[in-house]
Amino acid sequence: MEVTNDNGCSWVQDLISRTNFKAIQSNEDCEWLIIGAGYTGLSAARKLGQLYPNQKIIIVDAQLAGEGASSRNSGYLVDTTLNDGFTSNKELDNYKKKADIYDLGINAVKKFINQYQVDCDWNECGKYFASSKKEDAKILRNFSDTLAKLDFEHNLLSKNELSKRLGTNFYNVALHTKGGVLLHPGKLVRAMIDVLPKNICLYENSSLLNWNKTKDLISCEFKNGKINAKKIIFATNGFLKSLGIKSNYNFPITLTASMTRPLTDDEFKSIGQPKEWGVLPVRPMGATIRLTKDRRILIRNTAEVHNPFKMSKLNLDKRSINQKIGIKKRFPQLPDDIIQSTWSGIVSRTRNSSQIFEKIDTNIFAAGCYNGSGIGVGTLFGEQIAIKANNENTKEIETIEARNKPTWLPPQPFLNLGIKTRLFYERIRAKSDI
Ligand SMILES: Cc1cc2nc3c(=O)[nH]c(=O)nc-3n(C[C@H](O)[C@H](O)[C@H](O)COP(=O)(O)OP(=O)(O)OC[C@H]3O[C@@H](n4cnc5c(N)ncnc54)[C@H](O)[C@@H]3O)c2cc1C
Repeated sequence: MEVTNDNGCSWVQDLISRTNFKAIQSNEDCEWLIIGAGYTGLSAARKLGQLYPNQKIIIVDAQLAGEGASSRNSGYLVDTTLNDGFTSNKELDNYKKKADIYDLGINAVKKFINQYQVDCDWNECGKYFASSKKEDAKILRNFSDTLAKLDFEHNLLSKNELSKRLGTNFYNVALHTKGGVLLHPGKLVRAMIDVLPKNICLYENSSLLNWNKTKDLISCEFKNGKINAKKIIFATNGFLKSLGIKSNYNFPITLTASMTRPLTDDEFKSIGQPKEWGVLPVRPMGATIRLTKDRRILIRNTAEVHNPFKMSKLNLDKRSINQKIGIKKRFPQLPDDIIQSTWSGIVSRTRNSSQIFEKIDTNIFAAGCYNGSGIGVGTLFGEQIAIKANNENTKEIETIEARNKPTWLPPQPFLNLGIKTRLFYERIRAKSDI
């Protein structure tokens, strides 16, 4: 299976290019092997490096480390969500279990950036759930009840207040949650690469092609070499299924996003010079839209079953047109040609929105399926799956494992048919807010 990123992601382009990548060129043995170098894999590697400073630990990525979804996301480190992709989690007890995990995720990222003094444009400005449809006020009132029961600080906003804060009259109803952070996802994951402990060997541009388990070893085949590991952690998120990991419990979804160039002084004045903000949609398939601290607008308004994973330039251009329309609807005064880049990324979903955090066989572990919460939960799960693989228990692991396990999915072609139908239906319901 091909894992290829497009090179259009603004967050990646903001960073200084890395050099001196190593690819796998020979056969090796190691104690620990981690597949996938995003937030999850890098956090697992960091933790294992601390636990075992004298053991050989290898982390491998099919492309450049951190340049998958971990650099391609919208940068919301969430404390609460109204929707999980295209489903909503309404039951209070389950919602609390999910929010407890988010809370641990925020703490894991906070601890990381404090410990390593990471600059990732961290802004504790909370986030908005907003809709142009007045009738969505009912959904927000119900959500407000849930948040109140769980003591999340939040408030419902009038249209006037909202337009002052966001610089657009598009939205009619909104709820602001105080918790949650906006950040630069590329800077965060780059820091995770930069601080990898010395005993971690990072191989890039090395795709895992095949793997199998013999008695005490896991044998992994790459194009130019083989690695035999005593223990392995799969941290490939949207690519778990393609490696045969929990195949009947997760599936990949492709998202696309666009980012504008920075607004000029005049353009910024024309939208009222608001402070940095982030809006999540009330309806699952509505647009996520964000104004960055350097005055760029990011929009994400697609979620698709897309095969192959990589989008052609033509496909990205088509989605970019929809994203331009999404920006114009909200900011008609801005010029047509301000989108600077469009990119796609792969996330992983489960049927009931629960995450995967498991020992799947002796010495084989997997973590993933965070949908839109992977910044915090991926960082947390990476660290904690390393601890679990080390046969230890923590309060965090207990909280993670208190949540329901992912539920079984039907086989193909029924699965894709079902997902496509659901996405189509949700797109219609969210039409005005795309
Ligand atoms: C457009 C978009 C917007 C999003 N917005 C948000 C948001 O605002 N907030 C939030 O919390 N989350 C968001 N997400 C989700 C978030 O990005 C992911 O949950 C998170 O990146 C998962 O991290 P990870 O390390 O588990 O997986 P990834 O970052 O996907 O890393 C997995 C790595 O595995 C590698 N890999 C795959 N197959 C192989 C193989 N065969 N061999 C070797 N390596 C392999 C890949 O190259 C990749 O680098 C968004 C995602 C996208 C795409």
